[in-house]
Amino acid sequence: MGSVKKCIFVTGGVVSSLGKGIAAASLGCLLESRGLRVTLQKFDPYLNIDPGTMSPFQHGEVFVTDDGAETDLDLGHYERFTHARLTQANNVTSGRIYERILAKERRGDYLGKTVQVIPHVTNEIKASVRKIATNDVDVIIAEIGGTVGDIESLPFLEAIRQMRHELGRNNCVFVHVTLVPWIAAAGELKTKPTQHSVKELRAIGIQPDILLCRTETDLSRELREKIALFCDVDKDAVIAARDVDSVYRVPIHLAQQGVDDIVLRHFDMSDLPKRELSGWEDMLDRMRHPVDEVTIGIIGKYVDYEDSYKSLKEALLHAGLAHQLRVQLRWVEAEGITQETAHHQLSDLDGILVPGGFGIRGIDGMLEAIRYAREQEVPYFGICLGMQTMVIEYGRNVCGLESAHSTEFDPGTPVRLFFKLRELKGIEDLGGNMRLGSWPCKLEPDSLAAKAYGSPQIHERHRHRYEFNRDYEEVLTSHGMRVTGETPDAMYVEICELPGHPWYLGCQFHPEFKSKPLESHPLFSSFVGAAFRHHGTRVRNEQVREAEQFLRVRVS
Ligand code: GLN
Repeated sequence: MGSVKKCIFVTGGVVSSLGKGIAAASLGCLLESRGLRVTLQKFDPYLNIDPGTMSPFQHGEVFVTDDGAETDLDLGHYERFTHARLTQANNVTSGRIYERILAKERRGDYLGKTVQVIPHVTNEIKASVRKIATNDVDVIIAEIGGTVGDIESLPFLEAIRQMRHELGRNNCVFVHVTLVPWIAAAGELKTKPTQHSVKELRAIGIQPDILLCRTETDLSRELREKIALFCDVDKDAVIAARDVDSVYRVPIHLAQQGVDDIVLRHFDMSDLPKRELSGWEDMLDRMRHPVDEVTIGIIGKYVDYEDSYKSLKEALLHAGLAHQLRVQLRWVEAEGITQETAHHQLSDLDGILVPGGFGIRGIDGMLEAIRYAREQEVPYFGICLGMQTMVIEYGRNVCGLESAHSTEFDPGTPVRLFFKLRELKGIEDLGGNMRLGSWPCKLEPDSLAAKAYGSPQIHERHRHRYEFNRDYEEVLTSHGMRVTGETPDAMYVEICELPGHPWYLGCQFHPEFKSKPLESHPLFSSFVGAAFRHHGTRVRNEQVREAEQFLRVRVS
């Protein structure tokens, strides 16, 4: 632990879902472009110890860090927008804070004192910020979840108020993300919600330095002046955070209004080099001018809740950028797919992907989609559950292991192709009982994976409870499947492939967590490349079919 040098605290007002996470990540991106080293932190005011036990359909994706923390999806944005290396310490919930305090209380660490929100909870929050202040970090950007006015975020706001006092005004910047709604009946943008939200913050003792005003349109000079006057912020620090077509455009949008300059002015660091965002601009340019497109079908359950597959969506988008392609995502509800409907539902896809998941719902439909991809030679990418179902489909339909299953879905199956991880035996709690985080994986030479990565050993992040049963490896491989990735101790199978198929790979890990807009993940790039080749074949075949039909009509 070093000492905190500079801190930016990001709060939100008026309503939730204003994109505080993207705002914090974009600030990180801009400060890195000025040569600063940043890290980001998310405080979540709920009482769960971590989001690992929360439904992704309520809370969005559970993001996993290298050290195996199950975190809020905002950490995914932070990693995609910056070079920060995030760990368990970068996502702290109220539950975690209380867990620590109560453990100390039971140990007698408080020496008989009354344990209270102030100072004990606030001290623990401040200690969490200090914990990530390592020597290689210049600026900490900490986002406070929830909305100003929530009862449960009060201790966090009090803690950051104290930190401003302790660190000094020129080491601490408060950014408040707020809403300036368009009221159609009046035909006007309204500043009152922002005024109220700032009033609420000031009542707690926090005077914001920068207001990021989420609007549908631009903010006029008059409106900026009005907000500045009522909220007591500099005029140039009232920023219009307009809706944009891609989250990756937000840093550029903020840069155009000089947000980084304003932050650096507060920090007395105005002499830093000019921002360097050319890589970022090139990426946006490729996004704006795709040369073609591919359609990838994602076969999952509850696919309406796209936030639950956030990193996956982003990774596919990044892979498209690497090829200058627009990747259209088609969410297909697994439950509706049968052998009879598969062709109708899937024949216009260029690639099929089964993502991670838990529970039996939709498994049969996934197996049918995988069979379709295998038989019709459509590129297939299976991630975690998608790898397990890929192996089960192969076991059943190619190797004759008709009752093959995972014990997750059929505990009594006689053919246990996947069973509970050996290292988890005897652990019955729901929280933190998975194989989590980054593990090394050795790749087979000449495999699809080795070619994609261009390296014999990789590290990828995991989040699963069931493992491939190596007792069935021989029967699977003798029928053509290949195990191309395993842990260096040969304990766990990590990757399976089907040689001879245009692109057919399943991995037990989650590569999507490591993909970035400027560094697309090798497996995703390779998959999207194959999908584009399939797209070409598909389009040509369609043209041939049409021509044949045309000729048939003419001849008859
Ligand atoms: N449910 C499977 C397991 O626990 C797959 C998990 C996942 O896809 N993340 O092993």
